[in-house]
Amino acid sequence: MATQTKATEPIATMRSGTQLPTEPAHHKRRVVKFNVYCAPLDERGANPLYNAKYDGDTSKLACTDSASYLTGSPYVLIDADTKAELARANFQAYTKVSVWRDGTRNLHALTPITIRDDVKKIALFIANDSYRSRRQYPLFPFDLPDSASTTINIFEIRTDLVLDFCDVNTLGAAPDTNSLKKAPSHTDEYFGFLTGDMWRKISHEFHNEVGTLCPIESISRPLLKGHPAHIPPESSLANVSSTRPAQIPRLPDQSENPQTHSGPVTGPYASGTPTTPRGGTGAPPQLSTKDGVETLSNVDWTAVLSPIYEAGAGSRSLDAFEVHIPLLQIKLTFAERSFANAINSSNDTNVRDAIRRTSPGTFAAILKAMWRLHINTVALSSSWRPMLGSRLHKMGTALDVARFDDDDEDIHFALHNNGKNDRGKPFPKGAGGSKMAAFYRELTSDSHIQAGAVYTPWVNWVRPHDSHMHVTAKDNADE
Ligand SMILES: [Zn+2]
Repeated sequence: MATQTKATEPIATMRSGTQLPTEPAHHKRRVVKFNVYCAPLDERGANPLYNAKYDGDTSKLACTDSASYLTGSPYVLIDADTKAELARANFQAYTKVSVWRDGTRNLHALTPITIRDDVKKIALFIANDSYRSRRQYPLFPFDLPDSASTTINIFEIRTDLVLDFCDVNTLGAAPDTNSLKKAPSHTDEYFGFLTGDMWRKISHEFHNEVGTLCPIESISRPLLKGHPAHIPPESSLANVSSTRPAQIPRLPDQSENPQTHSGPVTGPYASGTPTTPRGGTGAPPQLSTKDGVETLSNVDWTAVLSPIYEAGAGSRSLDAFEVHIPLLQIKLTFAERSFANAINSSNDTNVRDAIRRTSPGTFAAILKAMWRLHINTVALSSSWRPMLGSRLHKMGTALDVARFDDDDEDIHFALHNNGKNDRGKPFPKGAGGSKMAAFYRELTSDSHIQAGAVYTPWVNWVRPHDSHMHVTAKDNADE
């Protein structure tokens, strides 16, 4: 603020020292610094808290083989009262720390953020929730104190280990869900827990957006020589939206295990009552054959994917199960423990919660490639998962493929290399390897799939893809 007067100004405007305008009465410079400690692995005895609680029981493992990190994932700090954005960035590289007595955690120390005077309460959005169109669950709404510098430690953790963590780290009682608590013996330091139950709340459910993300289309393929065309059931051609898929088998009840099992994995039709999928135009799909090419037109992905998005309601079972797609005459099998991370890191997440947080673009691309290549079964080993590896599965854009079968041509192929000499090398020779190469070509040329983001145990290998193919869809959120 200008306080000097120029010589040319009339004398009457001069002010004495006591009349000078003053600075705002109380100018606070407040800086907040977040440390996000990602969940530690709990397999192979890596997590003393897991070991102490479950004593060798491997059925409840959640964080296995690929430690959690958030590099590249977006985050937004907001004014919790006005919803205005105060800062937006992506998580940067992490460092490894082992001071919290539950193994090794990947630590993202965020760039300190200066908070304006008028802001009283702050909150954080991360991952899917940082997109404006998806925001639903502000993390850790917090009345920022007047201190010059406040540090907030966020621990990503399995819901069932929160109390044990507080105990071994002498943090006292745990803060309430989605709250911060002052750290004992540290002024200006607070902490809170990002649990699997909270990940479920901040992760986007895609199942109502299939029609937007995957428009109705026609697909075609060469007929297989020496094999008759597979005509989909009359009902799925006449009106696919009322098709009743083959029943998903009820699985035997597990010995009761409150953390991981609460009933069999079933589809929407296992009770015998078909439901009508949302969306669609009502125009039935048409199958036509001409000059050795089979064409399926009016493929409405909302209807096609419906059996997938309806499967697993209420079930926390980690058993393998199948979903049938009648129009395409394809079977997806979800391998045993496909949802272990989502379910074991939470108290409530069920199989359907995990599937609905997985993008339809990835499912549609895989199904389309399968149909075009006459592959009738694919085994998937992972979909949405909150506390393993990179942001891709956390944000629900990825699926992992472990195996495929083409029964007509008697080609059965497990996506598993023979160790490090195969990494980055061409696909194996033979019928299986050729089909694998074709599968890869189909996926990498699909408009739903993110460029360069199909990783295999051979071509385009990146750690840790020795035993599955990872497929990432583009994310069509608002930013
Ligand atoms: Zn993956």
